[in-house]
Amino acid sequence: MSPSATSAIAATEGIVGETNASTTKKLEAVRPTAILHRTPWRPPVAVSGKGVYITLEDGRTVLDAVGGAAVACIGNGHPAIQQAIKDQVDKLSYVYNMQLSNEPAEELARVLIDSSKGAFELCGLVSGGSEAMEGVIKIARQYFFETNQPQRTKFISRQLSYHGNTVTTLSLSGHPARRLPYEALLDHDHFHQVSPAFAKRFQKPEETEEQYVERLRQELEDKFIALGPDTVIGFVAETVVGATTGCLAAPKGYFRAMKSVCHKYGALFILDEVMSGMGRMGTLHAWESFGDNEAPDIEAVAKGLGGGYASIGAVLVNKRIADGIRDKNGFWKHGHTYQAHPLACAAALAVQKVLADGTLLANARTQGEYLASLLRKRLQGPNALAAPYAFDVRGGGVFWAVEFDFTDPDAPHVDFKGRSFAMIVQARCLENNLIVMGMTGGANVEGTVGDHLIFAPAYNVTKEEVEKIVDIFVDSVEDVLRESF
Ligand code: PLP
Repeated sequence: MSPSATSAIAATEGIVGETNASTTKKLEAVRPTAILHRTPWRPPVAVSGKGVYITLEDGRTVLDAVGGAAVACIGNGHPAIQQAIKDQVDKLSYVYNMQLSNEPAEELARVLIDSSKGAFELCGLVSGGSEAMEGVIKIARQYFFETNQPQRTKFISRQLSYHGNTVTTLSLSGHPARRLPYEALLDHDHFHQVSPAFAKRFQKPEETEEQYVERLRQELEDKFIALGPDTVIGFVAETVVGATTGCLAAPKGYFRAMKSVCHKYGALFILDEVMSGMGRMGTLHAWESFGDNEAPDIEAVAKGLGGGYASIGAVLVNKRIADGIRDKNGFWKHGHTYQAHPLACAAALAVQKVLADGTLLANARTQGEYLASLLRKRLQGPNALAAPYAFDVRGGGVFWAVEFDFTDPDAPHVDFKGRSFAMIVQARCLENNLIVMGMTGGANVEGTVGDHLIFAPAYNVTKEEVEKIVDIFVDSVEDVLRESF
């Protein structure tokens, strides 16, 4: 891998761009260990966790304001989930899903289908987000294969998107830095992209929101026509863009418009809710949070499904796909050894039971709004030190991001010495006992500029914890700014 590819990935993946003596020291420290870490150094080792707090090997306790990676939706150490996992391991730990199903898998699938209020009819259970998106790609293709449209082989997704880390899901993903080292292996024939829906950056000053949506709709339709409409399997989008652009919701009417293009040409409308689904937006499905209820034909969920208690994901399909598959061979041709794993399903089932009465989702909405209001006040308020740079505070539910922008020539000059502001702040927050997720490269379609930080605490986060998150975050941001003037 070229050094530039390494640093582009490092920057986007949250690997702090601190290529200085301290990094070299950390690198030295990591070499003798047995684990291949995802950072060039050994990250701090977590020992235990309770709620939103994680205790590290050095005895420090840190507040996890991002649930790992928008995963730990009810925090660590929830007694009901711990008990469900213990009960299941005592009862049945594994069966191979090609020959035997298991009780928690059957019940989890039923819970997911029933709670979708008719949107979905079948559910496939897998082991994580990337595998769910692989499963989505494959079931969508299988549907057309089974229903005598074998010529449909192409997917359309969006620039700046992220759909997973396997080779095929990277082919679907539109974030340049994440694709870069593997570009030569990616499939450019079957995976195509259109513009992201990012009004604050890409809506033209002379356009209304409606006109912007129409421009994006037309672009998708043009892409269908250019590819040959009857060769397209479907259009795939994150309902709320997670890591790559930071909690970015689409403009009003966007999904209805994109879905109409898909259905006009007999293709599928597919949503990736790996990060934004299962309550993260304050509704079970993120698409329910926009009011227009544009349910997809296929949806992937993962992180909040198991809340971090187990590695699990799911593929949900509607009646159209279910009927197409039932009418033919009637089974899912995508298979992995650990699919529908009993322990993972028992954990996810217990998490979903905790969420079922809606109390925690209501708390997520309330605390999320509070978090956003505090971030706006402290970062964008009239006397805020960060105000000239705090470009946007966006999101919904308990899924929020702050995007910083340092291009305003009238703002006081800051110099981060070639390093990414988001990554410096992420590192500073950790020093100050707060975990947030910094990302770079979400502000242009080349993925080369932009700094944002994500907040996705547990749905049961308290008001006091929200205040603590904002206090530590704002102090960290301001300290970094002061050091950079
Ligand atoms: N899709 C989206 C939208 C994601 O945010 C992610 C992970 O962040 C994935 C897919 C991949 O999920 P996983 O990391 O569980 O493989």
